[in-house]
Amino acid sequence: MAATLRGKHAVVTGGGRGIGAAIAAALAAQGASLTLMGRDAARLNNQAQALAARDVTVDIADPASVAAAFSRAEADAGPVDILVNNAGIVATAPFARTDLALWTQMVGVNLTGTYLCCRQVLPGMLQRGYGRVVNIASTAGLTGYAYVTAYCAAKHGVVGLTRALAMETARSNVTVNAVCPGYTETDMVSEAVATIVRKTGKTEDEARAAIVGRNPQQRLVQPEEVANATLWLCMPGSEAITGQAIAVAGGELL
Ligand code: NAP
Repeated sequence: MAATLRGKHAVVTGGGRGIGAAIAAALAAQGASLTLMGRDAARLNNQAQALAARDVTVDIADPASVAAAFSRAEADAGPVDILVNNAGIVATAPFARTDLALWTQMVGVNLTGTYLCCRQVLPGMLQRGYGRVVNIASTAGLTGYAYVTAYCAAKHGVVGLTRALAMETARSNVTVNAVCPGYTETDMVSEAVATIVRKTGKTEDEARAAIVGRNPQQRLVQPEEVANATLWLCMPGSEAITGQAIAVAGGELL
């Protein structure tokens, strides 16, 4: 096993499946000491066992839950050196049907959740003079898409948070970046396909083709490709990269 990140405590939120699971595997392969956080205890535990990681359940939208989860992670494995804010949710609706509950949920998990997790680790990172924060935003953090105003607004917020925090931490050997995936082959896309089928009457193949068609490479991004970009931002040699929002989207955004 490579050991480039040996001795570094890395937390990945939403580490039990999808992009977060791929990021966790990439960090583990570089020897990081890993804590996986998420909602589904059984799924997290399976993934954690496979990677010799710790698992802590959390609802990232709940301040008390986040505080308790990070206290436990730090009590078990020491201060957090690397934080990957990956946990997120998406729900679609035309703006006229985007009620306050949907809006609050999208912003609460995707944006406030990222803020709450950053808040737990930033003071320690600044004090120790080392930290890597990677926020998994989305191409929806960089451009607009129809029927996802709340998700788009939240992910644009994540990119804004990333840029501002990067400026604030620039002299402290703490870097803060965003990785912005395009459509990536996870449960989230399976659910998007199911929603298109349900709402438009398209077949599953047609719905999938509509999603794939957005990507100039005419394919879905793979979770491991998002993980590679994330890992790179955590590795020695990327110290000069901060405040960036890097699209991993097959050229969808230029
Ligand atoms: P996914 O397969 O649906 O997984 C989402 C993860 O987030 C799960 O591990 C889930 O935990 C966790 N999570 C959701 N709400 C949470 C909460 N309140 N507290 C704690 N954990 C929570 O999605 P994914 O595709 O891997 O997405 C990962 C990230 O990439 C998200 O931020 C998403 O917005 C972003 N993204 C995805 C795509 C895509 O096409 N897939 C594109 C752009 C951006 P449980 O397993 O415990 O439920």
